[in-house]
Amino acid sequence: MGILLRNVRLLGHDASLYTVRIDGERITAVSRASVPPTAEDDVIDGDAKLALPGFVNAHTHLPMVLMRGLADDVPLEEWLEDYVWPLERKLTPEDVYWGTLLALAEALRGGTVAVADMYFHTDQVARAVEESGMRSVLSYGIIARSMSDGGERELRVTETLAAKWHGAAQGRIAVAVSPHSTYTCGEDVWRACRGLAKERGLGIHTHLSESREEVARVRERTGDSPPQYLERLGVLEVPTVAAHCVHVDEADLALLARRGVVVAHCPKSNAKLGNGLAPIHAMRARGVRVALGTDGAASNNRLDMIEELRAAWLLARGPSEDPRALSAGEAISMATDEGRAGLGLPPAHLKVGDVADVVLLRLDAPHTTPAGDAVSTLAFSSQSSDVTDVFVGGRPLMRKGRLLTIDEERVQSEVVRLLRRHTN
Ligand SMILES: [Zn+2]
Repeated sequence: MGILLRNVRLLGHDASLYTVRIDGERITAVSRASVPPTAEDDVIDGDAKLALPGFVNAHTHLPMVLMRGLADDVPLEEWLEDYVWPLERKLTPEDVYWGTLLALAEALRGGTVAVADMYFHTDQVARAVEESGMRSVLSYGIIARSMSDGGERELRVTETLAAKWHGAAQGRIAVAVSPHSTYTCGEDVWRACRGLAKERGLGIHTHLSESREEVARVRERTGDSPPQYLERLGVLEVPTVAAHCVHVDEADLALLARRGVVVAHCPKSNAKLGNGLAPIHAMRARGVRVALGTDGAASNNRLDMIEELRAAWLLARGPSEDPRALSAGEAISMATDEGRAGLGLPPAHLKVGDVADVVLLRLDAPHTTPAGDAVSTLAFSSQSSDVTDVFVGGRPLMRKGRLLTIDEERVQSEVVRLLRRHTN
């Protein structure tokens, strides 16, 4: 039995209506002519909605939806040390499981098909991702001053995680090695992470040059900028997703480009925490790959990729006084293609043979009328609630605005119930 999506517009094409056929995991036909269904096919009328391959959130901490709205107005270090970490120490595997499902429900509703996540109790994150039907590169955030001071144990957690989950859920789940940052991991921990990643063929997912303080501290300790420091340790030889990269100089950009590091740009988180804005225009001009991420909901406070791409172009254009600083197409490419590359997913362009990651988005709302160019409408006018249907690997996860793999009402009430234990 296949799926026949009729009367859909395709992102990147003209305004014609197409029929897309999905068999199993893949797209098997794309045609302007009508494609006759077989008797067992599920025929879906797209009502002239826009079909796109879905968004990739290249950097997040899914369970941090549990901290949505916690201390909204303090700087990064104070926020982590006085608010986030004390609550995180209390979180149980059960909290993380339900928190992840809540996050995935929000992400799916906004048309996200894949996420790069970094957290702890990662088995529970994996369990929730597996149930949701989405794709994910999961990692355990390693925090250790040295290998003898907790590092050995932290790396074993990642080894166990990789043995159990790398390639699991029909290949929808992969595992990365995540030394949390240059300021939370010592030099021998970084070297061991690089060794483990190389030995197991895993990528690295980390935070890099997020705040001025981080850069100043690393320079003082090592004489290098954070990217140069990681290069000296051999870390950037491993395929790396580096979140933030706000405070980077010309030499850093050349290095990130040369090593093919994928920067996960998180404009809302950087703006909210008052960390500045990553120079994505300069990055892209120098050949650095830039994907898009929301970061955790505690510093955003949403996991909404359409809102994030809007923040990306607004914040690229305003301060630079350049209306050409980031085009609609470039912003969408960051939220889709570049994220797929960063997560090691196969490209998806709604072509025959591509994996059937397909999102349908209505274009007939008042705020999207008249919908001329679909790329411009999506980047400049759409909102996440315009998403009506999500398919990942050909499997429907949301149909007509209803989630099929996550019981939202139950998830929301569990999260409220569980959080009450920690706040009372
Ligand atoms: Zn982060």
